[in-house]
This record gives sequence, structure tokens and C-alpha cells, in this order.
Amino acid sequence: MEQIRQILRENGIQITRQRLEVYKVLKELNTHVTAETVLDVLKRRGIPMTVATVYNVLNLFEQKGLICKVGAAGEPVIYDINTYEHIHICDQETRRVRDCPDMQLVELVSRYLAEHPVEGLRLTRVDISLIGEDAFAHSI
Ligand SMILES: [Zn+2]
Repeated sequence: MEQIRQILRENGIQITRQRLEVYKVLKELNTHVTAETVLDVLKRRGIPMTVATVYNVLNLFEQKGLICKVGAAGEPVIYDINTYEHIHICDQETRRVRDCPDMQLVELVSRYLAEHPVEGLRLTRVDISLIGEDAFAHSI
């Protein structure tokens, strides 16, 4: 818990019991989660928290750069504790989100946009989501 306190402090987040518990869950799951998923885990642990509080905490973490939203996944919002630039692959049927380990594509897009800047826009982060479906699901 001390390590989590440290992380929150370093990101300018005032420590509360609820923020500590939510971040602990995010760290442990270490994947793409909705507020509902976090809430379920908290409930199972007997930690009372409302949906609104979980959303507030997640949005605060997102504002402070501690987590990020998965852009193309739609509603409900899916959050990611891994904030390094990477590509998401979203299954349009199950809404399951996976990470694409291809860093060459991220570099390719970053390099392209550095050479072909969008007028009036300073690029701060590359966030790419690919949407598809299970290629084998309908073949049988
Ligand atoms: Zn991810």
C-alpha cells in the first residue's frame, strides 16, 4: 500500500482510502477495465463504494495521467492502467480489448505525423484503436 501512496502522491493526487483501493484493484487486474469491473472486485472484498465514486476516482486518475481511456471502445468507458503508447484491438461483438504488441506501427504513425503535422495541432500522444471481429467465429 505504501508504494501505491507514493504513486498517487507523485501524480499530485490527494490520498483517500477510496483512491487507494481503486488504484490497488487497477494494479492487480493490470488490464483494460470498466468502472463496473472495479466495483465488482471492491464489492467482493467487502469495500463499500458507489458507482459514482468509482467513476469520479477513475476520471481523476485519467486527468492526472495515471490511467487512460481506450478511445474506440465506446460506452461504457474502458480504462487502461498501461499509459505507454500502444495500439488497442477492440472486438466489435464482445467489446473485449487487447493490446497489439506491434510498436513499429506506433512509431510509423508518430514519424508520419511528425513529417506531416496536422495544422493547428500539437500531437501529445498516439492512441490507436483497431476494431474488428473474431476471424474464426463465423467460419464454422
Ligand atoms: Zn492497453
